[in-house]
Amino acid sequence: MTTANLMPAWGVDHLPTLLAHCRQCGTYTFPSNAWGCRQCGADTLAKVPMPQTPVLRNFITLHGDVVPGLTPPVVVGEVEIAPGVVEEALIAVADESQLTLDMPMEAIGADPADTQRGLRFRPLEAQR
Ligand SMILES: [Zn+2]
Repeated sequence: MTTANLMPAWGVDHLPTLLAHCRQCGTYTFPSNAWGCRQCGADTLAKVPMPQTPVLRNFITLHGDVVPGLTPPVVVGEVEIAPGVVEEALIAVADESQLTLDMPMEAIGADPADTQRGLRFRPLEAQR
């Protein structure tokens, strides 16, 4: 399997793994520049790395022109990146036959200028 043609140009070294962790109640919030905790509203948030291996909770193949700059079909998934935090993101696979529910994922690529955007994932097995 190859996903090389889906890899962002800046490679995998810059990972968009920051979340906000509430010092009051321990809830994770994404993105890390949130105004306050999504659970208790406290602004005592610390930026922390992704606390778990991302897990694929759902996925769908989109065949229409729904995402500017991307050629359909594209695979979009719901990925749990922290307890209770599920983000919709592009899944870097050729097609969804490579995916199964609850499989471990890894984050790849983000705009180096903004760690909160461009979040993508691929199956952990795709690691070299
Ligand atoms: Zn909180």
